[in-house]
Amino acid sequence: MKKKLTLSLCALLLFLVCSNSVSAITWIPKEFTCPIDNEKNTFLVVGSYGSYIYNYPSKYQWLFFPDTSGNNFYMCKKCHLTTYMWDFDRFPKQKIEAVKKVLATIEQEKFTKYNKVAVTKRLEVMEKVYGELDKDEIWWERFNRIKGFHYGKAGEADKARAARLKSLETIKSELNKGNSKTPKKILYYVSGALKHFLNDDAGARADFDKALQTRYAKDGAKSGELKNAEANLNQRLNDYIKVMYEEKNPRSADRDPGHSH
Ligand SMILES: [Zn+2]
Repeated sequence: MKKKLTLSLCALLLFLVCSNSVSAITWIPKEFTCPIDNEKNTFLVVGSYGSYIYNYPSKYQWLFFPDTSGNNFYMCKKCHLTTYMWDFDRFPKQKIEAVKKVLATIEQEKFTKYNKVAVTKRLEVMEKVYGELDKDEIWWERFNRIKGFHYGKAGEADKARAARLKSLETIKSELNKGNSKTPKKILYYVSGALKHFLNDDAGARADFDKALQTRYAKDGAKSGELKNAEANLNQRLNDYIKVMYEEKNPRSADRDPGHSH
């Protein structure tokens, strides 16, 4: 009897371990050569993840894994070149000299593991690096939203707010443009989300209502895709409207500065 129980427990544990690994984000170390100084760095690449990432609470900032993970931001331990993980390998050669000059102005911190350097610190270096790379407004809007997310998580409320205000300015001008590449329904979602995180719930609610009234449209999309996106976004919007008034609302993803340390 005891043996049987032990066996079934083992089977259960094995099942739990296996099913857990299926639904887990995993990372694998990989060697990268820095395009600036040829320094060998070990960074983490994504081993596995699933569609469950689209339901993580970061959806309330319209941000998804891996932007929400500190592992995404690679930093060379020698010259401190910092990029998104997908840019490190294909850094434009013609920009190396300009970026070298920028990196020479930053405070050099010694480290062995890139992901032990504060995410906010790496984002600040990234901002300078990409400042040399001719990125468009939409690129910067997302970058600022990512900054807002990580500053908020770190309890740096003022810096989170400044980044989110910049992001919101861009969203406003995209909405005014009328020919934005981003679907209007999503622009309203992002605008409302930013306002919620900027403590303007009335403004957020007005944007979510506008989003619900705006049909999802995207050039070249098939009717099935449009229908799915419309239903998915409406569900997300109704969910946001419900949770934003709860005590533990999406904003609680930001660490209370009064409770840090
Ligand atoms: Zn380097």
